[in-house]
Amino acid sequence: MFHFTCDTCDFRVDIEYVPRVYVLPDGRTLTMMQRHVWCPRCARVSVAEALTEDPDALAARLERREHHLESVHTGNYVSAFTKAMAQKIMPDLCRRWIRESDEMDQLIADWKRLRTAGQTCLRCGNTNMRVPEKSWADLPHVPCPGTLRCTGTIVGAVFVDRRLPHQYNVQGELVRRGRMSDDDDAEELYLWWPGT
Ligand SMILES: [Zn+2]
Ligand SMILES: [Zn+2]
Repeated sequence: MFHFTCDTCDFRVDIEYVPRVYVLPDGRTLTMMQRHVWCPRCARVSVAEALTEDPDALAARLERREHHLESVHTGNYVSAFTKAMAQKIMPDLCRRWIRESDEMDQLIADWKRLRTAGQTCLRCGNTNMRVPEKSWADLPHVPCPGTLRCTGTIVGAVFVDRRLPHQYNVQGELVRRGRMSDDDDAEELYLWWPGT
């Protein structure tokens, strides 16, 4: 959960990304990289597509891949589990994680080759705004001269997300609304975080 609090006026808003994916022409899906923006046309904190991965997230992913590759190579799995347990379950986990990370790189590369449209506000289609490079960036509060300071709360890992994401084509156009779960009678998933 992201919290934006203005350092000058009393405005504040809590907002979370809603799950969204791109569906590539061959049917593969790529989780959309989203980024909070101050959209001047919406005049609110909105969400734009990020065309590049947050550099901190990418660095963490690459570092983790290095670590897992080394574990797979040496057969030495350092973990919070007991050594025996770690040796038993970590090889599969590491290999799976490396494979998924490699697939993600491939998907991003394939998507970028197909993508021609500019970076847009997902709410209104505006392309005239500055999309921050990082997920946790502060935003300008317009027309207030203040800055919206971004802080976050990590939601506990026990939460299992059963929501079906909204589906977009590679150009960022919504082609299918998501649902609150994969139950047949599940409600449609909201497009914007409630109350924002
Ligand atoms: Zn303000
Ligand atoms: Zn907008």
